[in-house]
Amino acid sequence: MSAPNSSYDPVQVTDLQPEEIEAARDAALAALAGADDLDVLADVRTRHVSGRPAPLVLARREVGALPPQARADAGKRLNAASRTVNEAYEARLAVLTEQRDARVLVEESVDVTLPTGRAARGARHPLSVVADRVADVFVAMGYEVAEGPEAEHGWYNFDALNTPPDHPSRELQDTLYLEPTTSSVVLRTQTSPVQVRSLLTRPLPVYVICPGRVFRADTVDATHLPVFSQVEGLAIDEGLTMADLRGTLDAFAAGLFSDVRGGLRTRLRPHFFPFTEPSAEVDLQCFGCGGDSAAGGPDPACRICSGEGWIEWGGCGMVDPAVLTACGVDPARYSGFAFGMGLERTAMALHNIRDIRELIDGDVRFALAFSRGGNA
Ligand SMILES: [Zn+2]
Repeated sequence: MSAPNSSYDPVQVTDLQPEEIEAARDAALAALAGADDLDVLADVRTRHVSGRPAPLVLARREVGALPPQARADAGKRLNAASRTVNEAYEARLAVLTEQRDARVLVEESVDVTLPTGRAARGARHPLSVVADRVADVFVAMGYEVAEGPEAEHGWYNFDALNTPPDHPSRELQDTLYLEPTTSSVVLRTQTSPVQVRSLLTRPLPVYVICPGRVFRADTVDATHLPVFSQVEGLAIDEGLTMADLRGTLDAFAAGLFSDVRGGLRTRLRPHFFPFTEPSAEVDLQCFGCGGDSAAGGPDPACRICSGEGWIEWGGCGMVDPAVLTACGVDPARYSGFAFGMGLERTAMALHNIRDIRELIDGDVRFALAFSRGGNA
């Protein structure tokens, strides 16, 4: 840098002296180095870098007053000082911005382990979900949903269903009677009395399903509850045969288990019920192995069906003419079929639930676990 020259304009501009420019530059660099956050840096920028009061900015205004040679020298010095200060500013800005961003990431991150003030939302119970799905399948086939009382007269629960007075199911160890026991009022042991009531009150033909709670004098264990849920179906029309029953059950299984192996099939095994003739037990194609284990497939030891390929699902049969007669229906003209399944067993099959008691524990986490996955 050249020294001041006395041949310059007699009006010396102090701000443009080399020492002054260096002092202004060094003050700016020191202030920039001392700026420890972006707010301070913005202030330093105004006072030292590019703001109106910055000495280097003020000095630049004076340059025009100098003679040409002095103007060029001072301009070079100013430019060099300004470039140094600007570079220092940009570097400091980058450092402080990075520090700020890193701090924000930490300070504004969400701690997902903190408790929230939100009330937990519940979930529909798997039994309710299954009952609704069953109703959907049958309503689509033209059935109506019928309901009836849980405290039922013995005539509807037993007599009308062709259950003889000495049948063991009427015993106190199987059936819960309301007092006085001579009143013959029971907690219904099945939803069949709703079928009787439907036949007595509805015009023929009748196509109904009857979902609801039923009661038995059972002890709670992994597969039994004293209170459980059934869905029964009844179809009474002219010309109905066992083939209609089979087709209906297969349509039921295919619709209800449509997302299990593309729909499951059923099979019938001969059985006896007082209110149907012929009667059969309904088995459901194993939802675990699809029946492969029974055919010696890749999973011969399926733990769900124990290698049977089928699991028990419910009972069914052609409605006994004696039941039709008891309900005022002419068995010479009408025939029909009935079937019934436990909803707990159905839900257990649908969700691979191992212990029926989980369905009554009332733990919302259990219901939440089954409210997802397309079954809601
Ligand atoms: Zn199986």
